[in-house]
Amino acid sequence: MIQDIQPKVYHNEYTPRAIRADDIVFVFRGREVLLREEEDGFHFPAGAEIKETVQYLFSIDDRAFYLGKEPVPGYEFQSMRLLRQCRPQDLCFAGMTAWHLYNWYDGHRFCGKCGKPLHHHETLRALQCSCGNLVFPVIAPAVIVAVTNGDKLLVTRYAGREFKGMALVAGFCEIGERAEDTVRREVMEEAGLRVKNVRYFDSQPWGYASNLLLGYFCELEGSDEINFDHEELQSAFWISRQELEPVKENLLSLTGTMIETFRLGKE
Ligand SMILES: [Zn+2]
Repeated sequence: MIQDIQPKVYHNEYTPRAIRADDIVFVFRGREVLLREEEDGFHFPAGAEIKETVQYLFSIDDRAFYLGKEPVPGYEFQSMRLLRQCRPQDLCFAGMTAWHLYNWYDGHRFCGKCGKPLHHHETLRALQCSCGNLVFPVIAPAVIVAVTNGDKLLVTRYAGREFKGMALVAGFCEIGERAEDTVRREVMEEAGLRVKNVRYFDSQPWGYASNLLLGYFCELEGSDEINFDHEELQSAFWISRQELEPVKENLLSLTGTMIETFRLGKE
């Protein structure tokens, strides 16, 4: 999955240092990212090309990643969906995680308690206000649910989204709710089905939507008649193991990994 970058190591402790020539700077604008496409793939501005003061984000091995604001000659803004095609994979993970942090910084310039400007804490990844308010990054937990019925898996297609492929039931955890109860609620809301034997599979940071995704498998309980949410979904249907195509493109995602796990008969 996207976060699996071994043997490289992601260092998320907040240890800012002066930018070096081969460090990487992500500059976002709206839903675009500054990059240059070459024959060997996508390139991002390097420390050596940066004139402005940039915000330290994190490191992977010895290379640090920063957030910039200004355009850099030789690079252009393109859809941030291209981040997903970046290779090696740690660059893809870095871009998505930088996007998560960009959205947090961008949405937290002022104190929500008193309205004064926020400043970066010196030693923590946090923003602070002179009134004492301390603001930490926002991570939104959400569940991805694979509902099985013997040899069949419940899959969905979203309505009105760019992504047209197969998805699984998914949704945000509500305040005061256990993740396992989110699973039961979302399956009922999206597909009108009851489930049992809810069990944890794996998790994944998914910076595109500021999520921490929690994957669960569960089994159908009672009727298999799907009554899907027409506002959120274009369709929801049962598909058998034999009908599922091998997942090639999408193994970056927890959803793709879960569908493939089911197809291979491991769940
Ligand atoms: Zn304040």
